[in-house]
Amino acid sequence: MSLSRRSFVRALGLTGAGVVSAPLVGARGREAWAAELGRGLGVGTPAEPATPTLVRLDSNENPRGPCAAALSAIRGAFGEASRYPMAQPDELRAAIAAAHGVGADHVLLACGSTEVLRVAVDAFTAPGRALVTAAPTFEEPARRARVIGSPVLAVPVDAALRLDLAAMGAAARGAGLVFVNNPNNPTGTLHPARAVEDFVRRLLAESPGTTVLIDEAYHEYVEDPAYASALPLVAETPRVVVSRTFSKVFGLAGLRVGYAVARPETLAAMAPHQLTDALNVLGLPAARAALADRAVVGRERRLNHEAREFTRRFFESAGYRVTPSEANFMMADVRRDAKAFQAACREHGVLVGRPFPPLATHARVSIGTLDEMRAATQVFKRVLGSAQG
Ligand code: PMP
Repeated sequence: MSLSRRSFVRALGLTGAGVVSAPLVGARGREAWAAELGRGLGVGTPAEPATPTLVRLDSNENPRGPCAAALSAIRGAFGEASRYPMAQPDELRAAIAAAHGVGADHVLLACGSTEVLRVAVDAFTAPGRALVTAAPTFEEPARRARVIGSPVLAVPVDAALRLDLAAMGAAARGAGLVFVNNPNNPTGTLHPARAVEDFVRRLLAESPGTTVLIDEAYHEYVEDPAYASALPLVAETPRVVVSRTFSKVFGLAGLRVGYAVARPETLAAMAPHQLTDALNVLGLPAARAALADRAVVGRERRLNHEAREFTRRFFESAGYRVTPSEANFMMADVRRDAKAFQAACREHGVLVGRPFPPLATHARVSIGTLDEMRAATQVFKRVLGSAQG
């Protein structure tokens, strides 16, 4: 018998208005944020989200949302909503620079790190200067390269679903840009600091005109002690750009704040490709408050770890292989068409990631709260147990 979304919710004992959404959207609850924001503005609770019963494990978001300090900064900025951002970008840039021990001229703020990726492709690739990327990896750079007519060389991940750095390095000779996502979305795999450093050094020697973009969107979640950020490489060469985001551990995906760290001359090549005034007056102070809250990263990493381990144990005890992940998502080989698995889970109120070619049977599951993962794994069990998937 198929489990409809309603019966799924009923099975979890979550029926009844107001009860339904709370456990499914995590400990704080969407209404709690909405109410908190509404109070600050002096207007009542904003409208209910359209689909409160969905467990959203499809976009690697932070299920707990912004920290209290960021919410308070957002409230405090409502009055600026009619203004263009003026001082706020400088303040955030200075805070990021201080956090990384670089000058403010080494930081480029952007409309999410997506904008960093896009402008790097615009600045460093061209019809005769390829983008080297992986398959699968985050697709924005390849998408953008195709739009502007730059060749795309997508190097398949290896058998362990790790970026094949040796093959990417070989493909990158003479290329304009190499995109290295560490940890890699969607596979969750990681390369240690030494491997990234060796990769960059070899590439700079063999192909001095190639820029390396190291996307560290999931940096804060990493627990492997062999890992370290590639930021120190920026001091060595203008050919390295590191991107980061406030969308993941800091829970600000909807406010669109990301940044690049690179040498000023490198950022000067990228900046003209940016959209003017793409930063927003709520996101900038929210990011600054989140960065200043020393408790966020440790807490989020711990809660993510707990829920990710729970999910890993579920898949493994059910006989499915999981790729070791260092991020807020994981890939499980569900041994059936990933698109059919996604559709079946959706039918039961759980959104998981779409297929990521060339992987056909791997499902990417973002890590929600422990409550969400308890609910979601009941659905996975049901879906995986059914013949059609
Ligand atoms: N890089 C990677 C690896 C991602 O997974 C994502 C979003 N899922 C981004 C960049 C873009 O994030 P944002 O634009 O929200 O910073």
